[in-house]
Amino acid sequence: MRKNIVAGNWKMNKTFSEAEELIDQIFLEMEDKSFQCEVVICTPALYLEMATDYAEEGRLKIGAQNASEHEQGAYTGEISAAMLASLDIEYCIIGHSERRKYFHETNQQLAEKTDRLLDYGVKPIFCIGEVLEEREENIHFEVVKKQLEESLFHLNKDEFSNIVLAYEPVWAIGTGKTATPGQAQEMHAFIRSQITEKYGKETADEVSILYGGSCNPKNAKELFSQTDVDGGLIGGASLKSDDFLAIANSF
Ligand code: PEP
Repeated sequence: MRKNIVAGNWKMNKTFSEAEELIDQIFLEMEDKSFQCEVVICTPALYLEMATDYAEEGRLKIGAQNASEHEQGAYTGEISAAMLASLDIEYCIIGHSERRKYFHETNQQLAEKTDRLLDYGVKPIFCIGEVLEEREENIHFEVVKKQLEESLFHLNKDEFSNIVLAYEPVWAIGTGKTATPGQAQEMHAFIRSQITEKYGKETADEVSILYGGSCNPKNAKELFSQTDVDGGLIGGASLKSDDFLAIANSF
């Protein structure tokens, strides 16, 4: 049975004390509730060590937002997979569209980042998705297929089973323009079919595919009820504990 996951992507938000306050609220609110999903928060790198204290005490899982494709060395400002592993960080977002757009990360580079994370036992939350023009040109399936092929399909079956995928149509991120449940399901089913072709049905059935893009407490239930949608990667709504946990409670 594949896992349902709701992961918050805090991006570059919150000062240290604000971050501590938010994680504290999430932690306390989670205490007396049960969830049908794994709850993950991906904090800025600077706050990961503080966040892991909460992970040790509770059911909260912690993720980073990026890692270098390099092992170690003279890469000023970068954070390595080994560093994340040394803090017992369980997840790391890779290939977010903001990193592809503003930091020009390529499918090839993202393949290398994925390899480094897997070398150190950190699970990638790997983001794929098309921009608006690509959907309008009706090439969104091709785009997503290429992202899978160029960044992930070099992995063997065992390695691939550690990947969490996040389908994030770029036109839906931070825009308030959510994909319809039908659009999400159509793409998630397509992604699963590509995984089936490459690795077989058993592997495809085990891989969690999250939806991301303006997911909120109002639309989460319908999105998560789709057969191939196994949770969400949540940006804006993850910055408020009530909204984030309402989404996590939407299964
Ligand atoms: C994201 O950045 O991964 C995201 C899904 O953002 P938002 O929920 O704000 O659209």
